[in-house]
Amino acid sequence: MNEERRRAIAQGLTAVSGRIADACAKAGRDPGEVTLIVVTKFFPPSDIRILADLGVREVGENRHQEAAAKAAELAGLGLRWHFLGTLQSNKAARVADYVDVVHSVDRAKLVAGLARGAASTGRVVDCLVQVDLDPPSTGSTTRGGAAPADVVPLAELLAATDGLRLRGVMAVAPLEEDPRPAFARLAATAAQVRAVDPSASWLSAGMSGDLEPAIEAGATHVRIGTSVLGKRPEIK
Ligand SMILES: *Cc1c(COP(=O)(O)O)cnc(C)c1O
Repeated sequence: MNEERRRAIAQGLTAVSGRIADACAKAGRDPGEVTLIVVTKFFPPSDIRILADLGVREVGENRHQEAAAKAAELAGLGLRWHFLGTLQSNKAARVADYVDVVHSVDRAKLVAGLARGAASTGRVVDCLVQVDLDPPSTGSTTRGGAAPADVVPLAELLAATDGLRLRGVMAVAPLEEDPRPAFARLAATAAQVRAVDPSASWLSAGMSGDLEPAIEAGATHVRIGTSVLGKRPEIK
């Protein structure tokens, strides 16, 4: 194991844990309520081995081919794989083969494939409805997700589907905008989803640049890449 890389990653983890603890203290929340998912997209499997050695159990990826290859190579490390990327419906079944949690369920068309993939391995796959947080006035989505009006019907469909478990909501804050009002809209949508199933209590929000406002808004899962692992390598 590369000692220098290991030290850098350990430092990143310490810094991010400190930020989570500070944000929780400010919000009067217990840091034990917040799960750190380290986003490993574009980083090599050797970095994920270091993360596992340092005690990380939750890792996130956003592209099917890359995620599938890493999950196969690193099976046995006891990692839980979170899928964060845009899903094509023809790949949904294959993603559900190896991931533990899909954060990016944003349309009903994905549900049958996900259920088929889960059934083929006999596991239950945790699912979050991805919510579009673009301001209502813009009428467009820049970062993906279901329109707020479509979230509850999609949550109901997930809750009624064998092999899938509705867990809550996920979102990416709009670019170049104060994330606070967007995260407040997300928290309101999260409450509607909890009304579908009280155990669907996960709120996946917060990246390297907006971890603090996400925790303030009630995030239970933060997805951090850059602040743990550094600048992402170029895509080849
Ligand atoms: C890449 C990515 C992250 C991590 O972003 P950083 O800014 O590097 O922390 C979080 N969530 C999603 C959906 C991502 O695609």
